[in-house]
Amino acid sequence: MIRIYGTILAGLLGLAFGSFLNVCLSRWPQGESVVRPRSHCRSCGRTLACWENLPVLSWIALRGRCRTCKAGIGWRYTAVELAVGLLWALTTWRVLPAVFSPDVSLTEGPLVFLYTSGLDIALGRLILYWALIALGVLDAEHLWLPNWITLTGIGLGISLNCAHLVLADWIAEGSSIGLPGTIAVSLLAVSIPALASAGLILLIRWVYWLIRRREGIGLGDAKLMAMLGAWLGLSGALLSFGIGVVMGAFFALVALAVPAARRDSETWLAAKLPLGTFLCVGGIVSALWGQPIIDAYLRWAGF
Ligand SMILES: [Zn+2]
Repeated sequence: MIRIYGTILAGLLGLAFGSFLNVCLSRWPQGESVVRPRSHCRSCGRTLACWENLPVLSWIALRGRCRTCKAGIGWRYTAVELAVGLLWALTTWRVLPAVFSPDVSLTEGPLVFLYTSGLDIALGRLILYWALIALGVLDAEHLWLPNWITLTGIGLGISLNCAHLVLADWIAEGSSIGLPGTIAVSLLAVSIPALASAGLILLIRWVYWLIRRREGIGLGDAKLMAMLGAWLGLSGALLSFGIGVVMGAFFALVALAVPAARRDSETWLAAKLPLGTFLCVGGIVSALWGQPIIDAYLRWAGF
């Protein structure tokens, strides 16, 4: 029962954070404050009533249009709210049994509890999903992967995973190199995958430039890959990249096949295919089901 209530609560919280993210996604590109003024219609400027600000429900009640000026409210608003809500609910659904398991108790201190229940990883994932949805939408709408999200994401991913490794070592009491040594080794263990992931993108970027003499992949994508490497490890980042590239190729083929889009589509695709968006989707899939996918692949490949 606690599992169901906890999941619903996390889902509702996710909807609220998704709703706030929508405000950020509309205002960051314009350089506006996300706190003031209050939520307003982006077409006629009317300040929204409380009930018009409810995630998902308002959009359905208003049938996707502003009450006064009838301007359409993009489906992105509802999609972002649902995505954050569902991902937060799913993460909570998965972690709650371990949190309330009899093997895990608070008697050994909050840090041991966080580690053994897996709550530290789960809480981190909530932040990761929020950031990846933010980056995915910004890249799709503005071809923009802001440094302050990717770089903060890299720093946060490295710190959290490093803390996780240090805790593991501390709980196992297996360390012979002392705390500073453990921290240094853990820091290396999580930084190297991040660097390698970014290196892959930089290598592709360089090869592309050698062949075509123009920029193919942006530096923002390299920082995004470093972020995925910091959070998900090298295999997780590579899986995200694989999923992202396949999705991007599929999207490009569909765009080329649709007659209306074919006009200028080659230049459009070359200039505007948001690789970052596909990487973000790949990152979310990889964070949710990375291990089963990698295991299945290794079995299939005969390892
Ligand atoms: Zn309006």
